[in-house]
Amino acid sequence: MQYVKFGNTGIEVSVLGFGAMRLPSEYKRGKTLFDYEESARMMLRAHELGVNYFDTAPGYCDGESEIIVGRALKNIRGKVCIATKYPVKSDSASDCRRGLEKSLKQLDTDYIDFYHMWGIDLDTYESKISVPNGPLAEVRKAKEEGLIRHISFSFHDDAENLVKIAEAGQFETVLAQYNLLDRSNEKAIARARELGLGIVAMGPVGGGRLGEPSEKIRALSSKNITSNAELALRFVLTNPNVHCALSGMSTMAQVEENCLIADRNEALTEKEIEAINASVAENKKLANLYCTECGYCMPCPHEVNIALCFRLMNYHRIYEITDYARAEYKTIGKFEWMPGKDASHCTECGECESKCPQKLAIREQLRETHSVLG
Ligand code: SF4
Ligand code: SF4
Repeated sequence: MQYVKFGNTGIEVSVLGFGAMRLPSEYKRGKTLFDYEESARMMLRAHELGVNYFDTAPGYCDGESEIIVGRALKNIRGKVCIATKYPVKSDSASDCRRGLEKSLKQLDTDYIDFYHMWGIDLDTYESKISVPNGPLAEVRKAKEEGLIRHISFSFHDDAENLVKIAEAGQFETVLAQYNLLDRSNEKAIARARELGLGIVAMGPVGGGRLGEPSEKIRALSSKNITSNAELALRFVLTNPNVHCALSGMSTMAQVEENCLIADRNEALTEKEIEAINASVAENKKLANLYCTECGYCMPCPHEVNIALCFRLMNYHRIYEITDYARAEYKTIGKFEWMPGKDASHCTECGECESKCPQKLAIREQLRETHSVLG
């Protein structure tokens, strides 16, 4: 495993992080049952192979992820970093304290290494988090009490706002979306790193957007790359501004494969990156034929998030990363950054179609989207 200095935190972090958002489970009698034992085996194996950063959140795995992570890492707690999150709903310090206490209890630990303000945007930061005696003041207090080691944020907003939040100087690390298909945060990440923040890239590898079998994605590189997961992980780790690539792992095979990749220091060459960029741009053109995500068709009177539904449909249609698209589709309406409703809420009123500059058969495409992803 390779390790890097994690911003100004004083920690040497493994370049691969274990994301506990898609832990092994099975669906039985209308309920998702998570496999605690297999999850623990996977996390301990990842640690054995060098991973020292484990990321969870109160809402992952139907609310069980923190408990699973806490139990799995109990005996090696001092050797690993645990990151979890606070879903900011209000500007109340006591709500924040309750969230923190609940996470500490679920994780069965005395402290959290990286406590994130979860999925924030600039407006939330200014109007709810950094207000006098608000959540930020509360987490600083908790840090003094030793309940938190580092104050972090995860981010869903325009890239320039990531920079503004980082420049506010209140956070030590950031967890941000960055992968082969989504580079929107690239410059912002570089600036945040310059400011001394630790950078964790989310959604980049096995089990994530690019971890599903896709010949199209694999064909992007001529290197001896054996899977999409490898290409995706190598791409992220080639960026010197990323300290740790977070992979949501669901199987032991993914743990083994990702750790093996993170073990070998094989950055992609400039030529390979260029070839990948050209191919991604080509695929983007293809995706735009279906939907450019311009949003002119919205708002829908029934709150269907048409552009988001079609983006996910394109993940299936263009990039063939269907499992990821299905998993994301399931979360529409569940998180602030997945607003609106899924395609099943379309009543076929037709109001949106006259507003689409592409003249897309939105109703028909929504039906198809739900039948494939729903
Ligand atoms: S056709 Fe469906 S998606 Fe379009 S506006 Fe009507 S309900 Fe919304
Ligand atoms: S108006 Fe058309 S192209 Fe634009 S987001 Fe809606 S469906 Fe997609």
